[in-house]
Amino acid sequence: MHDETPVLIVGGSLVGLTSGLLLGDLGVPSLVVERHSGTAIHARAGHFQLGTTEMLRQVGLERTVREASARTYHPTGGIIAVESLAGEQLATYVQELNEGVEGLSPTVRVFINQDVLEPILREKAVELGATVRNRVEATALEQDDDGVTATLRDLESGEERTVRARYAIAADGNRSPTRARLGIAMEGHGVLSRSITIYFRADCTPLLKDRNQGVIYVHNPELRGFFRLDRAGKTGFLVINSVGADVTTDAAVNVGEGITEERAAAMLQTAIGTPDIPVEILQIVHWRAEANYATRMRAGRVFLAGDAAHVVPPNGGYGGNTGILDARNLAWKLAAVVKGEAGPALLDTYEAERHPLSKLTVEQAYTRYATRVVPERGTDDAEPFIDDLTMELGLVMSSAAVIGGEDGVRHLPPPDTRGRPGTRAPHVALGRDRSTLDLFGRAFVLLRPAGADGSAPTGVDVHLIEAEGFTEAYGITRDGAALVRPDGVVGWRSEGAFERDELAAALAAIRAQG
Ligand SMILES: Cc1cc2nc3c(=O)[nH]c(=O)nc-3n(C[C@H](O)[C@H](O)[C@H](O)COP(=O)(O)OP(=O)(O)OC[C@H]3O[C@@H](n4cnc5c(N)ncnc54)[C@H](O)[C@@H]3O)c2cc1C
Repeated sequence: MHDETPVLIVGGSLVGLTSGLLLGDLGVPSLVVERHSGTAIHARAGHFQLGTTEMLRQVGLERTVREASARTYHPTGGIIAVESLAGEQLATYVQELNEGVEGLSPTVRVFINQDVLEPILREKAVELGATVRNRVEATALEQDDDGVTATLRDLESGEERTVRARYAIAADGNRSPTRARLGIAMEGHGVLSRSITIYFRADCTPLLKDRNQGVIYVHNPELRGFFRLDRAGKTGFLVINSVGADVTTDAAVNVGEGITEERAAAMLQTAIGTPDIPVEILQIVHWRAEANYATRMRAGRVFLAGDAAHVVPPNGGYGGNTGILDARNLAWKLAAVVKGEAGPALLDTYEAERHPLSKLTVEQAYTRYATRVVPERGTDDAEPFIDDLTMELGLVMSSAAVIGGEDGVRHLPPPDTRGRPGTRAPHVALGRDRSTLDLFGRAFVLLRPAGADGSAPTGVDVHLIEAEGFTEAYGITRDGAALVRPDGVVGWRSEGAFERDELAAALAAIRAQG
């Protein structure tokens, strides 16, 4: 006898929990299995971009997350480079975390540590119907024409059970055992450095002066890396990507080799820039900075999401955020197919839409690593820099679930997306703290100007929008319409008048029906 679930999610960290939460929000239960006893124990991801915070707003977690962020971080930190905290400021990469965001989004980017965010996601996922089982490992996974059978081992009792699911999501991280089982290879720039993160206590307040404290890169002859300090400047972590003369070589430097607490304390004091501040080392974590993507994001009924599908160096904060975009793209498609509202071919569009963007994002994270961490090595193998706002709000997707999209264009400055099919549906303010984005998340939404015909096919919510700037933002006239998918992406648009059949045909095509 098998346990049964519509969707099995292997890995209950950032992306697995987000997937369970979004499926639950769409009324589809899932089983999330995680071999660790709880959520993340390390801070890791801290910089959350608009794609993530807009999702959090749509599921009602914006305020909780912003309050949790404010307890640890200054909401307007920037990203700078210094010789050391006591030394000179060398560069400003981002003046202020939310510079340029106003008017483009109803929410903001936040700094919040992954070990603080994950319990919030987990609680919401469970509230919405996901079952999360910790200390459970997926040890085998097989699939046939109708579903997936996974063997799950309870790591406390050693007991094994099988679970039968219609689909599975592999959100099992960088070393993804599921990806290995499926024989999916990784491509890209390989291992960039064998890095360490030193978690510490040290009162750096006197050195911070009026410098804001989002991310502080350290560039000096002895080491390269970055600090993330809490709001008070007294605890935080230092990531070290390379040390000494190795900074300028191409070798994947092993920073952590033979590391002791004394050596870590000495490195930390070098980065602080003075031996006068007492330091206490809390923990040293070893990890590899990589810039790679999986050659495929799907094998049959199993979908790769998050670090299982792409691994980036932390520069720019693309790791977790890109995984959350995967989850957002996949959840509504799986939900629609499981509920019988869409044909299985809709699931083909996950890889078609996310794979090129995953590759683009890996390259952009690599460009940030090359320019911010090891500029001496040159940037010949790095793609030209694309600004953060474009990467967050201006990505363009193309697939059978985008009708009338333009193939080949992968990104646009956000103000130029203008409701083009395949792009994020723009934010238009609908009064005090209300946005067009608040209309999306659960169903297909047809947006039309006030006064237009409000009829639509079954299953489509219609909103007639009076707000100023709406037609310009969506690139339509007073007779036009934009059909927005549950993930907030424009699926079809008519700039001017259209036949009802045209809309019905577009909807059916997106849903892969018939
Ligand atoms: C120093 C540092 C700073 C970072 N900063 C940022 C940042 O600012 N912004 C950002 O977006 N990202 C950042 N990242 C990246 C971010 O931490 C990762 O991208 C993110 O954790 C990926 O989430 P995930 O759920 O895909 O994978 P993971 O977090 O790796 O989780 C995978 C989970 O799967 C579980 N698992 C694996 N195999 C099995 C199995 N067989 N059965 C059951 N469970 C299994 C694992 O135990 C693990 O909990 C940073 C990373 C580091 C190291």
